[in-house]
Amino acid sequence: GPAASGKSTVSKAVAKKLGYLYVDSGALYRIVTWLALEAGVDTSVPQKIADFSKAVHVDFVVKDCRVAYEVRGEEPGDRIRTPEINSHVSPVSAVPEVRALVTGWLRDMRKLGDLIVEGRDIGSVVYPDSSYRFYLDADPDERTRRRLVEDVAKGFADKDSQDKVKASLMNRDRIDSTRKTAPLVVPAGAARIDTTSMSVEQVV
Ligand code: C5P
Repeated sequence: GPAASGKSTVSKAVAKKLGYLYVDSGALYRIVTWLALEAGVDTSVPQKIADFSKAVHVDFVVKDCRVAYEVRGEEPGDRIRTPEINSHVSPVSAVPEVRALVTGWLRDMRKLGDLIVEGRDIGSVVYPDSSYRFYLDADPDERTRRRLVEDVAKGFADKDSQDKVKASLMNRDRIDSTRKTAPLVVPAGAARIDTTSMSVEQVV
């Protein structure tokens, strides 16, 4: 589903209930973006991102009910969730070489156990043959409200930043839905759930 539709919250809860491992695919695109920015890569040039991505190394570690990602021995935490990363991650994740890299990592994770994987292209491209596929959606104002609450809690936004947060979400949705490789779509055969007026528990 699109940004802030509830994918992470619901996936984590379902993983816990089933004793499966939660896999956050967006965090991997965020890590590539974070490292590229740190290395001074011009993210408006796809070839530069593609070249840089060859050197990205991430370790996968099973922790509690999730697959954790470590870069240089530690988890990046909220460093990959800043407004700066938000504004660069969609162009970076539109680069085919980056998608191939992350898709390979995600498919390899099957060897770690049973997985709940969330992201934009999981049911359509990464695991199109999985038995259970869901597309979560919610109306844009509700998604903005949810993301604003999270961003305020992390200190990335203040209560009045609604317009900015909405613009950032809409911009990512536009790039993610219109890119050539693995765009955000409702996969054929997936159950679509509109979570706008549902509680987390109901969606789970
Ligand atoms: O899920 P999250 O908002 O953390 O994802 C960040 C970005 O990573 C998305 O806006 C999208 O550009 C990219 N992404 C993707 N495919 C996925 C997961 C995330 O392209 N499976």
